[in-house]
Amino acid sequence: MEKFPLIINGFSTKTSETFDVKNPSTGEIVGYAPKANLEQLDYAVKAANDAFKGWSDKPDADRAAACHAIGAALEENAEDLARLLTQEQGKPLNGMGSRFELGGASAWAHFTAELELPVEVLQDNNEGKVEMHRKPIGVVGSITPWNWPVMIAIWHIIPAIRAGNTVVVKPSPYTPLSTIRMVEIMNQILPAGVVNLIAGGDELGAAMSSHEGIGKIIFTGSCATGKKVMADASETLKRLTLELGGNDAGIVLPDVDPKQIAEGLFWGAFINGGQTCAALKRLYVHDDIYDEVCKELTAFAGNMKMGDGLDEENVLGPIQNKMQYDKVSGMVDDAIENGGRVLMGGKPNGVGNGKGYYYPITLIADVDHGVKLVDEEQFGPALPIIRYSDIDEVVERANDNPNGLGGSVWSNDIEAAKKIALKMECGTVWINKHGMIQPNAPFGGVKGSGIGVEFGEEGLKEYTNIQVVMS
Ligand code: NAD
Repeated sequence: MEKFPLIINGFSTKTSETFDVKNPSTGEIVGYAPKANLEQLDYAVKAANDAFKGWSDKPDADRAAACHAIGAALEENAEDLARLLTQEQGKPLNGMGSRFELGGASAWAHFTAELELPVEVLQDNNEGKVEMHRKPIGVVGSITPWNWPVMIAIWHIIPAIRAGNTVVVKPSPYTPLSTIRMVEIMNQILPAGVVNLIAGGDELGAAMSSHEGIGKIIFTGSCATGKKVMADASETLKRLTLELGGNDAGIVLPDVDPKQIAEGLFWGAFINGGQTCAALKRLYVHDDIYDEVCKELTAFAGNMKMGDGLDEENVLGPIQNKMQYDKVSGMVDDAIENGGRVLMGGKPNGVGNGKGYYYPITLIADVDHGVKLVDEEQFGPALPIIRYSDIDEVVERANDNPNGLGGSVWSNDIEAAKKIALKMECGTVWINKHGMIQPNAPFGGVKGSGIGVEFGEEGLKEYTNIQVVMS
């Protein structure tokens, strides 16, 4: 079984201590991840600081070319990376799984390569000239979660280096291997020390958040951890982008054709088995079409194949880890105990031959606020379907949640849907779809879902400090 390395200053370094990374589909070991200590974190931060001057002084076009080269290298290595990702994360190769994630990663790299932040002239008259420059911050610490590990690492690393920063990335201990392989590939393109990788336990993330040699943290993960990152970062006054949890509401208006929207609703909620920050997590359906939407959604979901991700016929995999499996199954049990009506799923059914953390697609009708499955983020394959009859009241209920990542409105009347969209308290609202992010549209949460945005020019700006020059 392969031992994976840390990557510091361009070198792949094996550690004396390792930890097992297991396939959530089978429980088998996929590989041994390196377990870095705090001294190795210091080396990585030093390497990134040492590389900063050379990298930030380079012509902008060189950094753009390097980001394009990384995009191309991801395409060349896509199948190998996708297979490793499937084995450690559980998501299937097919459908919106590992190949889709690799495709997204290279698309984001190419798109971000093309972005520019030119000097803005704010004033140029008899009284003087005022220029606004965007300068890189220094070393960026990237902390990633286990649900979309490759794509999220790219969302962090590429804009950071595009803007002239250097990086220390720490993947989730559940899914570090594909990120390690990807950073090895990046290091064949980039100068030594521009992108470094450490892996190990959660304590490394905490140490990064308070590290004096790191100027910014880009963190994607849970709300609870995001708050700790913010507290730990306060002493050194780090720049922060926090992409945290969501509990996205979808509101279905009575004018839709239930059969037509069933596929969009399904994938909005169950992309990556629901283990997606901006998945549809609470579905509000108008009383007039409630039963029909439940029926069509159940019919569509019944045709989706779940099983080992390496098997080409599957489009859904297991839950990634035991902690999340227990959380989802506890929330479903609680919803059923509190009157929820099971349309499908609801208890483990031995899919995947009873091995692995398989939980079936679960649809629970006739639930409302006050049960955990509605009030909290489930982050798994279980969707509560809530009945409503008054549109103003449903918007209030959708907003009655500490999170505010995404939301959606489903209607044939796009203008009416947009009016409702603007009343929703979240960073993105989709009309007749859910969770479809794209590299040119800023993405981020309001309220408890985070601070700042990623993607596009607005996202790139978050990797810079403003400097004003007045002459
Ligand atoms: P998590 O918060 O448990 O872990 C995320 C990362 O933080 C891991 O690398 C972990 O090792 C590290 N970490 C743990 N403790 C830390 C600490 N004290 N200080 C610094 N780092 C620490 O999250 P997860 O379970 O891996 O991911 C699931 C969550 O992430 C969900 O809530 C999901 O909604 C959210 N998420 C959000 C987005 C977004 O863009 N908004 C995207 C993906 C996932």
